[in-house]
Amino acid sequence: MKREQVFEFFRRLAEANPSPTTELDYINPYTLLVAVVLSAQATDASVNIATGPLFRTIRTPKQMIDLGEDRLREAIKTIGLFNTKAKNVIALSRSLIDQYGGEVPRTRDELQTLPGVGRKTANVVLNTAFGEETFAVDTHVFRVCNRTKLAPGKTPEEVEAKLDRVVPKPFRRDAHHWLILHGRYICKARLPECWRCPVIDLCPYQPKTPPPGERVKPSAARSATPASSGVRIAKGRTAAKPKEGRSRSRPSRLP
Ligand code: SF4
Repeated sequence: MKREQVFEFFRRLAEANPSPTTELDYINPYTLLVAVVLSAQATDASVNIATGPLFRTIRTPKQMIDLGEDRLREAIKTIGLFNTKAKNVIALSRSLIDQYGGEVPRTRDELQTLPGVGRKTANVVLNTAFGEETFAVDTHVFRVCNRTKLAPGKTPEEVEAKLDRVVPKPFRRDAHHWLILHGRYICKARLPECWRCPVIDLCPYQPKTPPPGERVKPSAARSATPASSGVRIAKGRTAAKPKEGRSRSRPSRLP
């Protein structure tokens, strides 16, 4: 994507949502850190359901240690991987007290020394709690950056490095929120909602998804496909021929 297109891309996302933020509920940097750790492989909504009651009384590492692992496990048992997450939250709370005087550190390196805290979590905390211009690359950001060619890359680290290079100054602070929300609600994994996408003309991804009323039903598409254009793969079923020169194991679409 060209420089002026990148600017226009974010200008439109900013116009649609001038003050984006995380959808995780939190009270202070510590509760944000806990919420982000709990959100790994879980939805923000499911985390909020558990942390709502928890954060009414637990807002500091000391209070979390006093609560203890068993009661924390019980409080978050509706969240996936709650056993491991309870262990990590207790361990990171202890580390915060022992190493950082009970405060959440403000550098990525320090944050990543905490149990259960990887680069993405550290970036979210630095950005959302402390206003740093960091780019947390989760599955939504990764997908949007590759589909739109805004910042294509094979790994989250590669995408993050490209975002750092291309995102213009006025949008750097909120870029990752716009990208997450765009991926979560419009540029969805299974079926991007291109027909209502504000950046459709800037995005090279194909095929674009038409509005629901204009989509060809799979059964109609099948009956319109001549049998000779497919490869027989099982009795009574056909599949499209793989294109020449394309690896058969490679997905036909980016994530
Ligand atoms: S046009 Fe479609 S693929 Fe491109 S960003 Fe929008 S929703 Fe995603």
